[in-house]
Amino acid sequence: MISDSLKSVIRDIKDFPKPGIIFKDVTPIFKDPDLCSKVVDAFADRLKHLQIDAVAGIESRGFLFGLMLANRLGVPFIPVRKPGKLPFSIVKKSYELEYGSATIEIHTDAFEPGCRVLIHDDLLATGGTAAATAELVTELKGVVAGFAFVINLEFLNGRDRLGSFSSDIITLTD
Ligand code: 5GP
Repeated sequence: MISDSLKSVIRDIKDFPKPGIIFKDVTPIFKDPDLCSKVVDAFADRLKHLQIDAVAGIESRGFLFGLMLANRLGVPFIPVRKPGKLPFSIVKKSYELEYGSATIEIHTDAFEPGCRVLIHDDLLATGGTAAATAELVTELKGVVAGFAFVINLEFLNGRDRLGSFSSDIITLTD
C-alpha cells in the first residue's frame, strides 16, 4: 500500500522550524525513485474520474510531485509562488497563519478562463494555503477541479476549509 510505504519514510522532526512544532519531513521520499513513481501513479489513479486541464503546485514542495503529475497527465504546470518571485503580472492573496500571515501569487496568464485546475501541495494542515490558492484560481476565472496532497494532518481539519471549492480532496496517507 502506498500509504504504508510513505508512512515508513516520512519522518517527524521535533521543534522544526521552531520549538513546539513537529514537522513532517518528506525529503526521504525523493531519495527513492520507485516510490516517487508510485506516488505519481497513485495520484493519477485516484484522479482519473476528474477532468484536469492544469496542475497548480504550491511553492516549494508542491513543485516536486506537481510537475511530475502534470507531466503524467499531459497538462500544463502552474507555479504558485511566494511574494516577489514571479516576473510577469500577478494576482496575489494574503491569508492568516497561526502566527502572522502569508501571501501567494500566480501569473495572470497562468491559464485560460474555464480551465479546470488541480491544486497540489505536499501536505494539508489547516488548509489555509490551498484555500488561498483556490481563491486565486477562482479570481482568474478558473475552476477548482480538486486537490491532491501527499499527507493530511487530519486533526487540523483542513478538508473542511476546502470543501466549498471542490469535494475531490485526495490524500495518500489516509
Ligand atoms: P496549511 O496552509 O494547510 O495550514 O499548511 C500547509 C502548508 O504548510 C503547505 O505548503 C506545507 O508544505 C506547509 N507545511 C506545514 N506544516 C508542514 C509539515 O509538517 N511538513 C511539511 N512538509 N510541510 C508543512
